[in-house]
Amino acid sequence: MADLISMDADGTLRVPDEPIIPFIEGDGTGVDIWPAAKLVLDAAAAKHGKTVSWKEVLAGQKAFDETGNWLPEETVDTFRTHLIGIKGPLTTPIGGGIRSLNVALRQILDLYVCLRPVRWFTGVPSPVRHPEKVDMVIFRENTEDIYAGLEVEAGSPGAAKLSAFLRDQMGWEIRDGSGIGIKPISEFGSKRLIRASIEYALQRGRASVTMVHKGNIQKFTEGAFRNWGYELVREEFADRAVGWDDCDGKPGGKLLVKDAIADITLQQVLTRPDEFDVIATTNLNGDYLSDALAAQVGGIGIAPGANINYVTGHGIFEATHGTAPKYAGMDKVNPGSVLLSGVLMYEHLGWQAAADDIVRALEATIADKVVTYDFARQMEGATEVKCSEFASAVVDRL
Ligand code: NAP
Repeated sequence: MADLISMDADGTLRVPDEPIIPFIEGDGTGVDIWPAAKLVLDAAAAKHGKTVSWKEVLAGQKAFDETGNWLPEETVDTFRTHLIGIKGPLTTPIGGGIRSLNVALRQILDLYVCLRPVRWFTGVPSPVRHPEKVDMVIFRENTEDIYAGLEVEAGSPGAAKLSAFLRDQMGWEIRDGSGIGIKPISEFGSKRLIRASIEYALQRGRASVTMVHKGNIQKFTEGAFRNWGYELVREEFADRAVGWDDCDGKPGGKLLVKDAIADITLQQVLTRPDEFDVIATTNLNGDYLSDALAAQVGGIGIAPGANINYVTGHGIFEATHGTAPKYAGMDKVNPGSVLLSGVLMYEHLGWQAAADDIVRALEATIADKVVTYDFARQMEGATEVKCSEFASAVVDRL
């Protein structure tokens, strides 16, 4: 019988064989990629005696057209009570009160981890020579940093007031005509993000966690993020993990927690990708790093993502690209991003065998050069198929 996913007192997710999982189809190409992904997700679950009872909830253009509201309260309530959900891409409303529906959902549910695994699937066209060396999992802090939206516009009364305060109280001279943004990075926010990355690395037998920061310049925000991370390792993980400085880079049998400056990291993930495993980083660094890394393994058409609060158990898995409106309804684009977000969701639910099956079938399909337009244009001798045909081809190989 269909039932809700719940969380035990010790933080373990309790997942019935027929969980009710809310989904947002998504705007634009959502009408193409969601049904395609669902076809594969359902087939893989059925193979292992599981069924997802999908429950549609509305957000974005579809919600606005049907209810006059871009993010109906009912949708937020459903995600709140069902813990886990999945979504396609959403149109960002222009003007009006909502900056971005994705940001709104993350803030309301306090989804503090933006999880972006980046790995190469055999056969996917890539601009680098050794994409198989890329296998990283990015934990990007999702609630702080300059993304907190604390900004005042140049020339506004707010900017004048803030400049005057900074001059009078702090002795800081801000040039006239400046916009000003505030970058809050807290001990609480940093530690919960880094804690989640370490627990993930330990559970999955990963070799290291690298904290990526810009602490050489921004000492009290980015530098503090790094320092709090090492402090956390000593306070909470001393038996299972060790910081680089505390072991001279030789962790013994423990998980190694190290750090790297953001700019050099962007070089090294390209030149020495096998030295990076799990990455924990602040919001802006994580934004750049996620897309730069996705490019190495096939681009945003195939990059999955999730926003998670490991304490409350809430998680929304999502396609990382936008609505690609010029392709909407054409049954053309790659369903890989939302499909692999579903795979990530199955892994999170403990449905590892079904998740592994989908990955194997996806690789087999790509190895047979049966691909959507975005891969076909980069591969020789490919058979270009529609979005729905690609999904059927994956199901055939499950
Ligand atoms: P976009 O929708 O991500 O599309 C940009 C380009 O990425 C497309 O033209 C296409 O490239 C490629 N692409 C996107 N989805 C693809 C897929 N499934 N398969 C293969 N290629 C794919 O970005 P945008 O045009 O800047 O944004 C459109 C709307 O989406 C905006 O309203 C934006 O606010 C919103 N948005 C939503 C999210 C979200 O919900 N998470 C994220 C970003 C943007 P080619 O043309 O080269 O083939």
